[in-house]
Amino acid sequence: SGAAEGEHARLARRRAAVLPSWLGTLYSEPIDIESGSGRHVHDAEGNRYLDFFGGILTTMTGHAVPEVTEAVSEQAGRILHSSTLYLNEPMIELAERVAELSEIEDPRVFFTTSGTEANDTALLLATGYRSSNQILALRNSYHGRSFASLSVTGNRAWSPSSLSPVQTNYVHGSRRRGTVLEGLDDAEFTAACVRDLEDVLDQLHGNVACLIAEPIQGVGGFAAPPDGLFARFKEVLDRHGILWISDEVQTGWGRTGEHFWGWQAHDANGSPDIVTFAKGIGNGLPIAGVVARGEVMDSVSANSISTFGGSPLTAAGALANLEYHRRNDLWGNAHRVGAVLRDELFAAESMPGVGELRGKGLMLGVELLRPDGSPAPELAAETTEQARTRGLLIGKGGLEGNVLRIAPPLSLTSQEAVDGARILLEALRASGADE
Ligand code: PMP
Repeated sequence: SGAAEGEHARLARRRAAVLPSWLGTLYSEPIDIESGSGRHVHDAEGNRYLDFFGGILTTMTGHAVPEVTEAVSEQAGRILHSSTLYLNEPMIELAERVAELSEIEDPRVFFTTSGTEANDTALLLATGYRSSNQILALRNSYHGRSFASLSVTGNRAWSPSSLSPVQTNYVHGSRRRGTVLEGLDDAEFTAACVRDLEDVLDQLHGNVACLIAEPIQGVGGFAAPPDGLFARFKEVLDRHGILWISDEVQTGWGRTGEHFWGWQAHDANGSPDIVTFAKGIGNGLPIAGVVARGEVMDSVSANSISTFGGSPLTAAGALANLEYHRRNDLWGNAHRVGAVLRDELFAAESMPGVGELRGKGLMLGVELLRPDGSPAPELAAETTEQARTRGLLIGKGGLEGNVLRIAPPLSLTSQEAVDGARILLEALRASGADE
């Protein structure tokens, strides 16, 4: 079966071999990434792109960071795998490091290979601990692609199945255009969300395992609630003993600049019971996990092992990655360079096609609207293409696909922020966002 005329040869092979065949790529002409270096990636045709999406916020310290590469190859030469049946020093050391960073009381860590599986693990812990399969999640959420994590994903455009192994109720908890909460100020919005949560809990007689929430919704277009909402939610949850799971897959490791974890923006009186993490910790290596209060983790009453979670290979790479992050103060860098990037993008805010510039640190979203104020996914698609032809990779998100997502590696330099913002503004103008 030869490629259709003009079709990208590698894309044709992908269509024939892997993933559902209808699945497209982000661009009309696919980008075939072959290598990377720092904040840049290179394609098979020799083009170089400034990477403002990092494989969906995964590339934390940068592409081909020598310290990470060396740690991985050194470990690969020693042993690749051992499983949780045996002791494994990189896994233990990484767990100690994550526990120390977690800000959770009496923390215990369990490693998985993806964010999806981390959220499944968190749901397993919470439902078991509480003997309830009732879950609360936020509207417009995304928590993964497994059976359970899709069941707490509000945006069902991502779900191939409408069936669900858990009972989920969705509450308001992020600011979005077009909802009944639009137009409320922060205090009114917060009060409305708390009332919504209390109402749902009344209906369920408080018999609920947990609330799972992203502090800033990633796939949902970097939509966030006002700071402080989760502290108010926690007060309500605590009255019923309901656990709070913070999905920090996108917002963790200092991504949002001001705080190391997204939940800390809420000045919560106490931490979440469970935090899930993925993406950034491995800088591209498949490692993720949960960190939970010891009491919650220890409530698991059956043998629970993972073949690949926290393997010596991925744990060694993640350790080197976190060490690089600490030594180079990438959290502080996200704060400083995030502010530069936001300033440089200021001109976008006055463009008629731009609704709002949102987000924090190095997690910024540009919402695009049509002249009548409705979402403009076509403008987002065109801007993404125009940026690509100028050497900049960005992401898209939002329920309607009308939010540009900007999330470079946390090692971004100020000069790269200035260069990337200039290209993005050009791309917006070339797409007609300023008309
Ligand atoms: N939670 C959030 C907030 C995510 O953004 C994602 C991935 N986009 C996941 C969970 C799932 O992670 P993974 O793709 O590693 O399974």
